[in-house]
Amino acid sequence: MAVDAMTHAVVVGAGVSGLLAAHVLASSFERVTVVERDEFADGAPAFRSGVPQSRHVHVLWSRGQAAVDALLPGAVTDLEAAGATVVRAPDQMRWLSPARWFADVPGAHYLSASRELLEATLRRRIDDHPAIAWMPRHEVTALVPGRNGAAAVSGVRLRERGKDGQESTVHSDLVVVATGRSSRTTRWLVELGHAAPATERFDAHLGYSSRYYRRPAAEGPWTAMYVQGTPDVPRGGVIVPIEGGRWLVTLLGQAEHQPPIEEKDWLAFAASLRTDELAEALAGLEPLSDAVAFRATANEWTHFERARRWPRGLLVIGDALCRFNPVYGHGMTVAAMQAQAIAARIATLRPAEVPARAPELQKAVAKCVRGAWAIATGEDARYPSTDGPKPGPLGRMQQRYMSRVVAAANTDPVVSEAFFAVLSLNRPPESLLTPRIAARARR
Ligand SMILES: Cc1cc2nc3c(=O)[nH]c(=O)nc-3n(C[C@H](O)[C@H](O)[C@H](O)COP(=O)(O)OP(=O)(O)OC[C@H]3O[C@@H](n4cnc5c(N)ncnc54)[C@H](O)[C@@H]3O)c2cc1C
Repeated sequence: MAVDAMTHAVVVGAGVSGLLAAHVLASSFERVTVVERDEFADGAPAFRSGVPQSRHVHVLWSRGQAAVDALLPGAVTDLEAAGATVVRAPDQMRWLSPARWFADVPGAHYLSASRELLEATLRRRIDDHPAIAWMPRHEVTALVPGRNGAAAVSGVRLRERGKDGQESTVHSDLVVVATGRSSRTTRWLVELGHAAPATERFDAHLGYSSRYYRRPAAEGPWTAMYVQGTPDVPRGGVIVPIEGGRWLVTLLGQAEHQPPIEEKDWLAFAASLRTDELAEALAGLEPLSDAVAFRATANEWTHFERARRWPRGLLVIGDALCRFNPVYGHGMTVAAMQAQAIAARIATLRPAEVPARAPELQKAVAKCVRGAWAIATGEDARYPSTDGPKPGPLGRMQQRYMSRVVAAANTDPVVSEAFFAVLSLNRPPESLLTPRIAARARR
């Protein structure tokens, strides 16, 4: 089989970043084909093996929420109608920071829902777009070189799952790789004749263990809870409300403090955090599932944007480009920011011009990563068990400064507003480096 068209984009992967990119490209390209390894479940929220992280807490910070709503107006309303909750942090979220509990200070909001609901809602919004064709159960195995070899990508090789393994080709002008944490893009590039791009890596060896609970019938004083770990006690936990009258509860631990999945150990781990409050909140509640673990949480940024030679017609986005330690809750927001960056660039171009501008687009999406990367790697570097470049004198000074900012943000409304604007990715981390914040953080 060979599919050809004048302006055809292929998006590989139908996770959050692939769906948003497909939507953006469909406003410009004649055809957009979304190739996804998994089967879709009739638009209903459902677990897929290609997105194993969906069983763990997924929050969409206000910056991401605004981006999703700008790209797909009404999507957030749909999510709320389906049971998602907008939580104001910290005033509706009982939050123990590395310093102390946050007081009722200004912060930012996030949307809390299962990752399955988020994805199903986005997919439903673009499902019947006339320019978008869906190829579920198809796995991309390689990039197809252009007529002049590795200087361009002209499509993908793929095979239908469950069939005899026979491969076919889909030709396109643009290939957008959105294959997530397990992406094989580097291998595909090398097979094409390109050098492997440099990858930066910081691994805090953070483990997740999550399970669903039935939410208590009576409303409590808070909507969500977050207990952060510290280098001394690297154990934490999160409770968030999700649709279906449920809580999704994640326990977190670093290095040898990996949270268990066994029933007998789960509540004991919850009781070993820096406070008893999370374990007390779960006591007597009905668990709706066993616990499941997720361990591959390293921060990894593959620097495609630095490549000397970047093929025409290729763009790598989302987790396939940069994966963050998920505890900061930034991956989906960055994916939405990248979709906006692509939309802004291609709005000024004719579709036929887009493939040649791939290097520029790759730089634009990489730029969206910076803030979240600085937060995640800066914080993770505090932990002695973190693998990765150790902070130098400047890095250590920044860490001491950030410790004071967080401590001040616990009670000082000015600092908390500035801190949450950064955490929600509404402002860059540098915005905390002002004389006003510095003076208040010194008190
Ligand atoms: C434990 C955990 C918790 C997280 N919590 C948060 C959070 O609170 N907030 C937040 O914003 N982000 C969070 N994230 C990050 C978030 O899941 C991702 O950043 C976000 O979903 C964007 O991912 P993506 O679309 O790039 O990739 P994914 O969502 O992983 O999707 C990749 C898709 O590509 C498909 N695919 C892969 N290879 C192929 C192939 N060869 N051919 C065809 N299809 C293929 C997969 O089946 C999958 O559907 C968390 C991540 C983890 C691991």
